[in-house]
Amino acid sequence: MAIRGNDVADASASLGRQTTELLQQLIRNAAVNDGSPDSGHEIRQVRTLQAFFEGSGLEGVVVEPHPGRGNLVIRIPGTDPHAPSLALLGHTDVVPVEPAGWERDPFGAEIVDDVLWGRGAIDMLDLTAAYAVVTRQIARSGFRPRGDLVFAAVADEENGGHYGAGWLTEHRLELIDADYVLTESGGAPAGSRPAIGVMIGEKGQAPRTLRVTGVPGHGSAPWGSRNAAVIAAEAISRISRFRTPTVITPQWHAYAAALELGADVTAALQSPERLYEGLPATGRLQGFAHASTHTTISPNVVHAGEKHNVIPGEATIRLDIRVLPDVDAAEIEGYIREALGDLLEHIRIEGDLIVPSTVSPVETPLFDVLRSAVRRARPAAELLPMLAAGGTDGRFYRARGIPAYGFGVLSDRWDYGTFRTLFHGHNERIDLDSIALTADALDFTVREFLGRDHGVRLPR
Ligand SMILES: [Zn+2]
Repeated sequence: MAIRGNDVADASASLGRQTTELLQQLIRNAAVNDGSPDSGHEIRQVRTLQAFFEGSGLEGVVVEPHPGRGNLVIRIPGTDPHAPSLALLGHTDVVPVEPAGWERDPFGAEIVDDVLWGRGAIDMLDLTAAYAVVTRQIARSGFRPRGDLVFAAVADEENGGHYGAGWLTEHRLELIDADYVLTESGGAPAGSRPAIGVMIGEKGQAPRTLRVTGVPGHGSAPWGSRNAAVIAAEAISRISRFRTPTVITPQWHAYAAALELGADVTAALQSPERLYEGLPATGRLQGFAHASTHTTISPNVVHAGEKHNVIPGEATIRLDIRVLPDVDAAEIEGYIREALGDLLEHIRIEGDLIVPSTVSPVETPLFDVLRSAVRRARPAAELLPMLAAGGTDGRFYRARGIPAYGFGVLSDRWDYGTFRTLFHGHNERIDLDSIALTADALDFTVREFLGRDHGVRLPR
């Protein structure tokens, strides 16, 4: 039995090594998405992945909705058309860096003391690389999945998925469609057991623009003027002070308990009346704790004035609004109106788009397999279903009723506070242990979920 144990350890170490090497290449390709259509250049990632799959018998389909914005989708057909299929959904773009804030080359993919540095190391080229390694391994090993296995390396997640998962959902659904989906931002441990975070859903979005009207005039005589910039400043200040209702979701209730901050703090964090009392004790997780329990309104883009000697007659404020489950457009309008009060005389609220929050059920055969996968490395671990504050491509599936989970397994050196700080932050990096743990858990999950009969027969 000892020999068999070593075989398993060797196999997962090899998956880890392959993932590390591929991750380094993906980081070095610097597929930086700055939000403009001609950025990203994810086609470089597609070429790297195609080279990686060469000789495995897997080719896949390349889709390029805009020059350079490449997506690669590979489907390994299952043997049973009624068995559930599984998609591994990884984005290949990364957010820009501010090089001055980094201690190492953000696109060097250096390994120092068993830690791999670079933009995309945790968001989410590590997972995209692991998905590719697991998919290739499945093909090479001759394993025949019962349901389809889909590997999707998609562009543009960091700017809404317009050239990636969103586009594919709208125009080429047959390529990426699946009954279950795994994607990013799970895996951080919490508490002593530990509990391993799985993102089962995310908040929604409802961007709004405020148009401020003042009276233009000469900048040399500001007394008594109605300067749109001054009105906008007051509006921003009121919005930042405004408190939307505190809502304790089931996910937050469980997460607060998993933090193990003592009975009194936990009770405060689980109480709509006492939440703000408990927030300071959550340390680096304060922002997440607040976002998990509130629909948030953040004034992030402000414009006023053109010329230094002209009092501006117009200003605009763009609000990033992230909505909890079951919050509708009328409630959002109500929050803004209440926050602005008498300033509404000078301000018009524009926009009515609402992308609702999406949440997947946890009573699924895939969730059970994820629990077993985590327990291979951490026998006492429980899964902690979480709601992400930000957005992922998982929403395109959840919106169609398909369970999508953000899944991974990070090592003991991580907590969700550290994870969130590095996400889109300086010095993004991942330890090689976490890469190996995640690759092993994904390999187990794919084989277990697609290899066994879970009693689910889907109509086709
Ligand atoms: Zn991401």
